[in-house]
Amino acid sequence: MIDKSKKYGIVGLARSGIASAYKLKELGVIPFLSELSPAQEIPAAEKLEKDFPCEFGGHTKKLLECDCLIVSPGIPLNTFILQKAKEKNIELISEIELGYRIKARDSKIIAVTGSNGKSTTVSLIHHILTGLGKNSLLAGNIGDALCGYDIEKPGIDYIVLEISSFQLDLIDSFKPDVAVLLNITPDHIDRYHSFEDYALSKVNIFKNQETTDTAVLFWDSPEVRHFTRDIKAKKLYFSLSPNEKAFAYLANNYIQLGAETKVPLSYLEIKGPHNYANAMSAMLAVYALLPEPAKIAEAVTGFKSLPHRLEYVDTVKGVSFYNDSKATNTDAVRSALHSFDKPIRIIMGGSDKGENYNVLTADLQKKVKKAYLTGETLKKMCQTFSGKIPLECIPDLELAIKKAFSDSSAGDIIVLSPACASFDRFKNYEERGNFFKEIVARIGKENEKK
Ligand code: ADP
Repeated sequence: MIDKSKKYGIVGLARSGIASAYKLKELGVIPFLSELSPAQEIPAAEKLEKDFPCEFGGHTKKLLECDCLIVSPGIPLNTFILQKAKEKNIELISEIELGYRIKARDSKIIAVTGSNGKSTTVSLIHHILTGLGKNSLLAGNIGDALCGYDIEKPGIDYIVLEISSFQLDLIDSFKPDVAVLLNITPDHIDRYHSFEDYALSKVNIFKNQETTDTAVLFWDSPEVRHFTRDIKAKKLYFSLSPNEKAFAYLANNYIQLGAETKVPLSYLEIKGPHNYANAMSAMLAVYALLPEPAKIAEAVTGFKSLPHRLEYVDTVKGVSFYNDSKATNTDAVRSALHSFDKPIRIIMGGSDKGENYNVLTADLQKKVKKAYLTGETLKKMCQTFSGKIPLECIPDLELAIKKAFSDSSAGDIIVLSPACASFDRFKNYEERGNFFKEIVARIGKENEKK
């Protein structure tokens, strides 16, 4: 339930801001909308201006007349207007918090956070629930924003939410029935003061949970164990090795789920230990609400990797290409390196998120034939890896892909796994991944003719 007597403001008019605005309108409340970019840069501006009181081109003091601001995840909390709002005790919430207040009471929430693996895991959970014949809604960072759906109406059994730390920064009453924390590794260091701050914002996901709720946690991560030591929820652990503390663990060629169920790895169409971890967490999340391990094991089959996450693209003259454009931090790259049983040619680089790339050196030394460094981070990466691994610095991504191919012989593997965001050259990681796939298609055509 939301308090309709309050005056609401929306700060930032991207996907979740627009969804919040229309949801409030549907519920009979007209919010005030505020966006930093000029109206010409916002595709929906004309319609929004017809439907709401709005301001574009900057956040003004008009926002300070509101009682509650719904803040887009992209807006840093130290933004001047948000600081002023805090001083005036104006409530600041995220769109996820708004959605939680609005949703029908009987819809259960499964929420997933972590530095890497969120999209894959929520998609797996949704896949399992749908396979079990449940009405599941997948929302949050993946697909549409939570408020973009009819969540106030009864009938949705489970809402599966992918939640970033930015959204967790501004929750208040949000309480998932099951919360999954996959891992906590350095990411978004450009936005948080310290790793501890970043970790604490992730752990916010558990803050309202009670003993009847469940936390699904990665046993193998000392950070996950450390930051969740005092939470109230019942803990279900998963691990990449046999372990009596873990309710799900990876054994030789199967996943042990509870005492009795073995899930052969051949049931899974996704590869690499990180994906086995994602699959275990997804099965546990469902198990917490529907304790039927054998049925869950069956329902996990048939799930394919999402685009841009270690996605197989093609094989040209015996050289295989994988698109891992979503690997925007070093931990995701480490997962890619550990997913192949022989050394790969890796293409890395893009726009910097403030990470120390040296953490990858040892893995690159073991797992890489040669690295092709490109993009805005080229100089920083070259300085980090020069003399430690075979490498070549090629500013242009297309030329880097082509060089990796011309260096290759049959049996080689080329992986785009940048360790960086894409904004130096692309709108987002999807555009970068699609560009990679286009170049691979061109290489395929050129080599077909010969
Ligand atoms: P997110 O939504 O958290 O960004 P994705 O499922 O989209 O996660 O995957 C992002 C990147 O991280 C991909 O490169 C993928 O291969 C890698 N990845 C996926 N799951 C994990 C995991 N559990 N640990 C580390 N890396 C992972």
